[in-house]
Amino acid sequence: MGNKLEGKIAVITGGNSGIGLATAKRFVTEGAYVFITGRRQKQLDLAVSEIGKNVIGIQSDVSNLADIDKLYNTVKDEKNHIDIIFANAGIAQFAPLEKISEEHFVKIFSINVKGLLFTVQTLLPIFQEGGSIILNASIGSSKGIEESSVYSATKAAVRSFARTWTVDLRHRKIRVNAISPGPIDTPIFSNLTQNEEQSEQFKKNIVNTVPMRRMGNPDEVAKVVSFLASDDSSYITGIELFVDGGLAQI
Ligand code: NAD
Repeated sequence: MGNKLEGKIAVITGGNSGIGLATAKRFVTEGAYVFITGRRQKQLDLAVSEIGKNVIGIQSDVSNLADIDKLYNTVKDEKNHIDIIFANAGIAQFAPLEKISEEHFVKIFSINVKGLLFTVQTLLPIFQEGGSIILNASIGSSKGIEESSVYSATKAAVRSFARTWTVDLRHRKIRVNAISPGPIDTPIFSNLTQNEEQSEQFKKNIVNTVPMRRMGNPDEVAKVVSFLASDDSSYITGIELFVDGGLAQI
């Protein structure tokens, strides 16, 4: 796998499950030291033991600014600098336009948009010149997916941040890119449906819209995040890299 992230310090929000966990594993294999966050301590501990080495888990709710400060303080105390941020934590909940409540709106924006912005802002003072920031958006940033108004709007905001921060941070030689996964087989789908059976049907329906006719697995996204985190992508900034089996491309 190579050591293309040798000696790098990385922060991955939502690193205890799905895409974040797969990325944490890959980063460590490629030589990085990784801080992962998540809300649930038990799941965080499990992830830390699965990753095995060069990892610290920090319980931190991305929608809570005091928790983001806690993350900053821990990373500062332990390593004093960061080379890579993968702003990945996010939730998906769907509702038809007629049924969108204020609670639905505030919850998804607080985690996917507010949390992502203040994570990056808070960590900036210890972020290395020449580092790489990767934001996890979604094909929802540019596709009209039924009943996904709020979720998709949060991801359009995330994609937009990659553009603005590319210029805001260029003086520090920091690259900022977004990734937009298509359907990736992670626990996120359990929130979109009532039970396992519905979830399987939901996935089947989506797979029929994917040119490659399958879901992606989390490591297929992790490989792309690792590319954007490493010097292999040294002349790439401001992009949205789709990892979607072709879904949003044709
Ligand atoms: P997941 O549910 O396995 O992981 C989500 C992660 O975010 C978990 O680690 C969870 O602890 C964390 N998280 C959620 N709310 C949080 C909060 N308030 N504070 C801190 N952490 C919080 O799902 P996943 O598919 O791995 O999702 C990761 C990201 O990928 C999300 O931003 C999601 O929108 C995006 N994404 C996923 C898919 C997909 O098909 N799975 C597609 C496009 C985009």
